[in-house]
Amino acid sequence: MKIAIIGQSLFGADVYKILRQNGHEIVGVFTVPDDAKGRPDPLASAALQDGTKVFKLKKWRDRNQVLKEVYDQYKELGAELNVLPFCTQFIPMDIIRLPKYQSIIYHPSLLPRHRGASSINWTLIHGDKKAGLSIFWADDGLDTGPILLQKECAVQENDTVDVLYNRFLFPEGIKAIDEAVKLIADTEEPPRIVQAEENATYEPILKKHNCQINFDQPAVAIHNFIRGTDKVPGAWTVLNGEEVTVYGSEIWRRDVPTGREVEVKDSGKPALVHQLGLLLYGNDGQTVNVKQLLLQDGKMIPAAKFGSVDREVTLTELSPEEQKIKASIQEIWKSILNQDLNEDTDFFKAGAGSMDVVRLVEELKDTAGIALHNDDVYMNPTFMSFVTAAILKSRGEGDATFQFNHVKIKANKMDLIVPHELFINNEFVPARSGATTPALCPADESVLCEVSSAQKEDVDIAVRAAKEAFENGDWSRMSHRDRGTLMFRLADLMEQHKEELATLESLDSGAVYTLAIKTHIGMSIETWRYFAGWTDKVHGNTIPLNQARPNRNLSFTKKEPIGVCGLITPWNYPLMMVSWKMAACLAAGNTVVLKPAEVSSLTALKLAELSVHAGFPPGVINVLPGAGRVCGQAIVDHPDVRKIGFTGSTAVGQQIMQSCATNTLKRVSLELGGKSPLVIFSDCDLDKAVRVGLQSVYFNKGENCISAGRLFVEEEIYDQYLRRVVDEVKKMKIGDPLDRSVSHGPQNHRAHLDKLLCYVEQGVKEGARLLYGGKRLDRKGYFMEPTVLVDVEDNMFVAEEESFGPIMVVSKFINGDVEGVTKRANATRYGLAAGVFTKDINKALRMADNFQAGTVFINTYNKTDVAVPFGGFKMSGFGKDLGADAINEYLQTKAVTIEY
Ligand code: NAP
Repeated sequence: MKIAIIGQSLFGADVYKILRQNGHEIVGVFTVPDDAKGRPDPLASAALQDGTKVFKLKKWRDRNQVLKEVYDQYKELGAELNVLPFCTQFIPMDIIRLPKYQSIIYHPSLLPRHRGASSINWTLIHGDKKAGLSIFWADDGLDTGPILLQKECAVQENDTVDVLYNRFLFPEGIKAIDEAVKLIADTEEPPRIVQAEENATYEPILKKHNCQINFDQPAVAIHNFIRGTDKVPGAWTVLNGEEVTVYGSEIWRRDVPTGREVEVKDSGKPALVHQLGLLLYGNDGQTVNVKQLLLQDGKMIPAAKFGSVDREVTLTELSPEEQKIKASIQEIWKSILNQDLNEDTDFFKAGAGSMDVVRLVEELKDTAGIALHNDDVYMNPTFMSFVTAAILKSRGEGDATFQFNHVKIKANKMDLIVPHELFINNEFVPARSGATTPALCPADESVLCEVSSAQKEDVDIAVRAAKEAFENGDWSRMSHRDRGTLMFRLADLMEQHKEELATLESLDSGAVYTLAIKTHIGMSIETWRYFAGWTDKVHGNTIPLNQARPNRNLSFTKKEPIGVCGLITPWNYPLMMVSWKMAACLAAGNTVVLKPAEVSSLTALKLAELSVHAGFPPGVINVLPGAGRVCGQAIVDHPDVRKIGFTGSTAVGQQIMQSCATNTLKRVSLELGGKSPLVIFSDCDLDKAVRVGLQSVYFNKGENCISAGRLFVEEEIYDQYLRRVVDEVKKMKIGDPLDRSVSHGPQNHRAHLDKLLCYVEQGVKEGARLLYGGKRLDRKGYFMEPTVLVDVEDNMFVAEEESFGPIMVVSKFINGDVEGVTKRANATRYGLAAGVFTKDINKALRMADNFQAGTVFINTYNKTDVAVPFGGFKMSGFGKDLGADAINEYLQTKAVTIEY
């Protein structure tokens, strides 16, 4: 058939292509003139490529008369049918009626509903359950001609104009026009069903002036209005006095989340900015959530960030690689926009549309390997803001716009930026009560800063944020591997900030800097990487069941995260203890409310800051410094916390377990105190036994949970061993932990130091011999001499109780009495670790069999690795940190049975 196509746009171009493909002769294409920048309409471009005649008409008629030259041009083509796929011009009836089969028009609604120009919008605004398209015969009314064919589809609750158009109206519309033309060509009397006037609706064109949201209607109607105008022309309102267009609406059926109130003009209730967007109220008290906002300055932002502090970022220096990225972005923009650029050129104001957004994103991925989303283009519409977003993405910086209150500390030839407020929902906020506690530097007793101290009400807010993130946030929808990617990224950022973290740890906990770099921070980084690798290796089993004929059954198990986990950690390795627990907990897919030790919480807050840069979604990690009996207890008691991971003393562990049983019955794993024996036989490598023996006690100034709490030395070498130990202890350099030559820093805090001094006093009172040390150093700071207490008998206080400090407690055992010393080593209520030094491997392995401890060292000590499970027996608790076992502490098993 000879066809003239009258219309425009990509839709028109696709109609042109399909009709041509299916053997019709397109005798001419009538479309609009090139745009202001000289760019032809896509329909014109498609036709010109094939050498088809193209007419770019400004107008068809003058004073109600068709222009003669237009009429003549048209007539000469000899078209048998006019196809109008999408046409914004008024086409005179002389042209409509001239061809043998006259003219058919595509209309994106189920006529007679929604006649007029904004039909898709009104389909959604009216909440229609069905949408569709009509191909009708043109007449002289507005969308009134008889119907040739119609196609319909179901409307989903959150469909927007774009979604409906892309999913159905565009692809099916093209097929429908093709089908309609075939019907005309192949049938004698193609359908002409007259439209029923009683069901007809006519609605006005939607423009900005009639797109202000009316809040005096139910939430569903508000939702329909917003999605019915999304993205063009966009529903708008006034928030805090600023005109804002809203996108990405959904009905909110969950609990009202925690958030910040925002004033809404002409609404009975303020809106709420929260981690997943902005909540708006209808007059029925129900709510609608919107995800993006277009601000007055043309910038699109996530609704969750409305009203946050200044978010402009400027890139400082670009590397040569980044210069190349900028240059290729410039090329892509130029080829799309067909014009010169400057830094402020706005992609959309320069004429780009939604297809150009797709093209920009795809070309950037192709040329520079940077994967941005369509929304990133809307949110960064100017050239320089887009370049910035792309470069930050290439640097792996999720959100370089992140602003927070902090203190600056100058130390170790560095300027440290230190957050000191509670971290909830990816924001640093003060405690609701305003409470703070000072962070003291144990090396000189100075105040580093005031740290916010969380109370019960802050715990409630943080748990709600974590629950929301677990149940509905991006975290819950993310693939396991993507979670791993975030964790790897966090580990990389920790590596980049390693010196800063180690300095902070040193200042806040008294850790010797060189040890902090290697162990406190180094092992923390390894822990994050180790568990990041586990995220996509968590799976269950397939279990065959006894068959119940004639059907078959099969069960499989799934390992699922538990939910919101409360983590409570001590002060001895502040960041490492946090990392051991949190990395395993997050790898399993849970969300976290962490209470670090009140006395050393700064590196946990710094970790929180880095997690934002790594791209962790809001609510996944929440960090609440505060007192154990207040904040810690509130986490333990909270009904929405499903599991507690605790490291600390046995006494507090017992109390926590009791609370977990009494109030909510939650799972708990406890890494508790220890009194770990180290047995040294005379047949050992004595040099090594002395060197490692010292480390087993004085490593990290004795503030080490697996520290050897009691050394048993065989009678034969007892005096020699003690002499050599004291010689070595005298050589230990005590002092400023940031001094690289120092090996022994201050104790963590004053109360702990006082406890240690009492411990030594008690030992001596009961008859132990103080061979070395035992005193506080006469200088500022919480320094204690490395101490050696010997001739300790089994019934003494120091033989039974943990010191958690730099105090070596030594007892003698009878030559060759393996059984006796094993019994004495096990005669403690704890069971965290144990060690033995001997060259007799049989003896060593027999000891290893008989030690009642979760970790046993042979001819070594303190050698832990992220892949080796760590945790105690007896009153040292249960549940493991590290290794494959640890991830299971944060998973629960679900069994699913199928019949087939
Ligand atoms: P802790 O007094 O038991 O405190 C541990 C954590 O629990 C701190 O964050 C503390 O808060 C908090 N807490 C206190 N009372 C609480 C309550 N009622 N509810 C909830 N949380 C509460 O222990 P620590 O003095 O910090 O640490 C030393 C102990 O930890 C030693 O016994 C050591 O052996 C043990 N430890 C064990 C391991 C292991 O892996 N097994 C590792 C390291 C340390 P505050 O900030 O208010 O104190």
